[in-house]
Amino acid sequence: MRSQVRIIDSTQLKNANPNLVDPVGYRKSGLSLNHIIGCPLDCSYCVRHLYGNFDQRTPQALMSDEEAFQRFITHRYFQPHITPIQLFNRATDPMLPEVKSHTHNLLRMLDEAGLTNNVLVITRWRVSQDDCERFNTLRNIKLTVLVTYSGIDDPKIEPIKSSIAANSLKMLFRHARHYKVVLYWRPIVPGLNDSSEHIAKAAALANYAHATVFSGLFYRKEIAEFYQSQGIPEPYKMTARRKLLPLEDEQRLLRLYGEQNQVTPIFHKTSCGVAYAHLQPDYNGHFGITELCDTCPSSQFSICKAAWKKPDQQILNRMCYELGAVEDPQVNDRAIVVRGLDEQRRYYLQHSLGYQVHDADKPHHYARHGRAEATRNL
Ligand code: SF4
Repeated sequence: MRSQVRIIDSTQLKNANPNLVDPVGYRKSGLSLNHIIGCPLDCSYCVRHLYGNFDQRTPQALMSDEEAFQRFITHRYFQPHITPIQLFNRATDPMLPEVKSHTHNLLRMLDEAGLTNNVLVITRWRVSQDDCERFNTLRNIKLTVLVTYSGIDDPKIEPIKSSIAANSLKMLFRHARHYKVVLYWRPIVPGLNDSSEHIAKAAALANYAHATVFSGLFYRKEIAEFYQSQGIPEPYKMTARRKLLPLEDEQRLLRLYGEQNQVTPIFHKTSCGVAYAHLQPDYNGHFGITELCDTCPSSQFSICKAAWKKPDQQILNRMCYELGAVEDPQVNDRAIVVRGLDEQRRYYLQHSLGYQVHDADKPHHYARHGRAEATRNL
């Protein structure tokens, strides 16, 4: 398959953000491959603000697909059949016309290597019937296509119409035989896209998905600065490391969704939606964070319960010290708590053990997993 994205030249490469130059890195739901950077979709809250890359609108490749594939499968944290994989979720959209041939190419390479890992493809762009048929040819990897849909209709915040994502979801669901489809309902911003009508629309759309996952807004300093520079009303008085969604708004949203859709379960966590869709235990070990499981069907709860077990302390100690921990890890009913391991190494450990791994210096509080408390502005 011919590349449709130009490979970046060495002069440009020198100017690229160092965090983008390495195409392989851990993000929360998996080891992520991102050798194509640049996106024209201009969502105001895009994570590319964090990499100083928001103005690069034309996707460019850092290297060939073959080189990227080799780097990925030989990466120190990649484990065949275990590590969840994410394609192009940091700096472009995998289904853009010029990017999607690379997405299909990578999926084919992973599949032909006989790997059975979970693979996540997250898009808000158009998906055709031909794309679905290509996804259906995959036999080994467990593919989930997550369609980002917000229902936001303010073009300053989100220039791309939500109807594009809605149509892609329906297309994917109609043809799904060897892959699963998740309605990725985000970012939900109280006062902007969480009216009863917005929730009713999303609940109806969820009939075209195997699972729904929702989340709030990732409102970091760089994104807040962009909002200010564009005169976009700021949704919160604060920025935060985790996604923002006040608890009472979350509870109302779950209640209204549940009243209107009793068929497609809704999850707080991406990996839980993926796990449910593929009938497997949550690879992120969220089972210990019991309050996250309140929306989960009992059949899925049983699958996670059967798989979830505390790691052996001696084996865990050895693994942690080999990775660079500075003291014995503590294991409680919710998580392993470790000091001295950065995010990358904690995710590696988490996926190796199927048990949550938290940093001792950044404590998680009950009912606040992955969600910061927020004061609304809107
Ligand atoms: S039981 Fe809990 S951890 Fe497992 S998939 Fe459901 S919500 Fe996630």
